Amino acid sequence: MTYNGLIFDIKRFAVHDGPGIRTTVFMKGCPLRCWWCHNPEGISPKNEIMFFEYKCMRCRTCAGVCPAGAIFFENEGGFPRIERSLCIGCGICADACPTNAMRLVGRVINVEELIKEFERDVLFYDKSGGGVTFSGGEPLSQPHFLKEALKRCKEHGFHTALDTSGFAPRDTFEEVMDYVDFFLFDLKLAREDEHKKYTGVSNEPIRENLRLLDESGRGKDVLLRLPVIPGITDTNENIEGLVEFASSLKDIRQIELLPFHDVSEKYARLSREYKMLDYSAPPPATMKRIREAFEKIGFNVKA
Ligand code: SF4
Ligand code: SF4
Repeated sequence: MTYNGLIFDIKRFAVHDGPGIRTTVFMKGCPLRCWWCHNPEGISPKNEIMFFEYKCMRCRTCAGVCPAGAIFFENEGGFPRIERSLCIGCGICADACPTNAMRLVGRVINVEELIKEFERDVLFYDKSGGGVTFSGGEPLSQPHFLKEALKRCKEHGFHTALDTSGFAPRDTFEEVMDYVDFFLFDLKLAREDEHKKYTGVSNEPIRENLRLLDESGRGKDVLLRLPVIPGITDTNENIEGLVEFASSLKDIRQIELLPFHDVSEKYARLSREYKMLDYSAPPPATMKRIREAFEKIGFNVKA
């Protein structure tokens, strides 16, 4: 039996998603709502349309072909607008648009097709010590497809990495864990109330899954990743809380600091609200302070 998954991109020659040169597959659907999410096209578990205003020549073709009546124009000669609650994600507007101003985000792919995509890059994996990475969205939100894809990757001898928030039922996490060689595991907020406020979910299952991983003796295969968000994750209180938690881990001793960057354009293209308009990248002094706090407890810090 082969499983279908819904993905939104496959990036070849990726060098930031695990060791060596990698092929990264971005899966759709995520149970978290992090204010700063830099892949908002991965949040919805359904197809959706991205609209690139600068490419649009206002020809109105899209509105004419939409079977759901989801595209309208606010004024004569204006740009199209999408009523998201009506859109069924069929992609007909994207096919019809002469300038690619409408793009369908979401593509169904089965495990066999995915393996074929990976096979194209085997030479690069072998030469660089690379492999394949599952990212998103949250890959664990499509557990059956993910497990089957990881299993097949291992049968083909591919090194596998999982870029995850860690938010998943323990059983699901345990089921895929053995097929993953390397984890990119997010660490965000120490306090439960803040975690819920800024990500929409509890921190508990995340900590539990991270402990499970740590206690399995797989610590060296885990890179924690901390998004450095000014006034949210970079506060002294939060860093102290994260450092305290991190120092209680047995084997995990690597962390990467990911400074905030603006992705407001992506949100506008998806008609999504962006809560980070007033935020900017953290200054070097903040990165240094956080780096030193983790180095003090013996972490290798990548920034
Ligand atoms: S079909 Fe494309 S170019 Fe024409 S109005 Fe729609 S989005 Fe713009
Ligand atoms: S994806 Fe389909 S339903 Fe949605 S706006 Fe385009 S044509 Fe209409």
